[in-house]
Amino acid sequence: MAFIDNILQKPSYGWSDEKGELIVPSTRQLWAEAFSRINIFKSRKNWISLISWAMAVCMLPFLIFFFWFYFSWWLVGAIVLYTMIIMGTHGTIWFHRFCTHKAYQFRHPIWRLMTQNLVIKTFPEEIYVVSHHVHHAKSDQPGDPYNPQGGFMYCMLSDVNHQSISKDLNEADYGRVAKFLKHTGVSINTYKQYQKWGSVATPLYTITLWILNWAFWYAAFFLIGGHGLACAMFSAAMIWFVGVRGFNYTGHGKGKEMHVDGIDFDRSNLSINQTRPGLFAGEWHNNHHLYPGSARAGFLPNQIDLAWIYIYCMYKIGVVASYHDSKKDFLRKYGPKPELKEA
Ligand SMILES: [Zn+2]
Ligand SMILES: [Zn+2]
Repeated sequence: MAFIDNILQKPSYGWSDEKGELIVPSTRQLWAEAFSRINIFKSRKNWISLISWAMAVCMLPFLIFFFWFYFSWWLVGAIVLYTMIIMGTHGTIWFHRFCTHKAYQFRHPIWRLMTQNLVIKTFPEEIYVVSHHVHHAKSDQPGDPYNPQGGFMYCMLSDVNHQSISKDLNEADYGRVAKFLKHTGVSINTYKQYQKWGSVATPLYTITLWILNWAFWYAAFFLIGGHGLACAMFSAAMIWFVGVRGFNYTGHGKGKEMHVDGIDFDRSNLSINQTRPGLFAGEWHNNHHLYPGSARAGFLPNQIDLAWIYIYCMYKIGVVASYHDSKKDFLRKYGPKPELKEA
């Protein structure tokens, strides 16, 4: 079996049938799988999936407090801004372009730590990063952790059902999986520790970072705008954290071929350039599948890319040491000819 087919924990319903076709589980099967995957009493190795959901559950009281005690339209505006632009753009800058695709490098580890913690902490990095490599290798095929042809809930529950790493990797394969996270600063288990915990990240690091990050941000928002603002911002982080799973479904055309001529140039998979995730978070997803390693994904004139603007500004002030930018290559291959002459 190829390495890439082996690194994620196979769901109990499997990825594909004997004909190699995608298995589409029922909603009931998906929920049953999710609860078995976060069951820490069944196996200690489920801890990291449990943490991912526990974070969302721990954010819920903030949402309730917000509506109960602090509701105001001003704060609703702040929630929309934080959810749609700040959390989304940070997700692109940190989890997607840096942690997964190494599209740019920091000049010093302190900038990496600060970038990681620029917003309220959600995903443990490995849940996003390892599975996203599989997504690129097997886009829209069986084994793709958020294959949109599996349906909306297949994608919504994928963080626990399809995105944790295999629990029975041999030492060499574990080493290769751990290497996906080496540059991120995440504290990494030895093979012996992995055999105990079933994860790349150490529990101590993951939980300490979570607590420190939340304490910092609650205090910071409290000092700026009291408990009202703090509750609003934690609510916003939760809305993003839950809602972002839907992007994996819509970003690949909900499992249907929805490419538009002149906009979506990569036809090897179902990814599309959508206006909202593009403008608000720099996720021009069809462009991204063409050039996964590029720190910029907005290539055409109207494709504003806030994540790229941020990375480029950080480069200008010396926080970012270097980056890849595939815009020229894109325009040479797909861009309108007159624009090529000007460039
Ligand atoms: Zn994709
Ligand atoms: Zn990607």
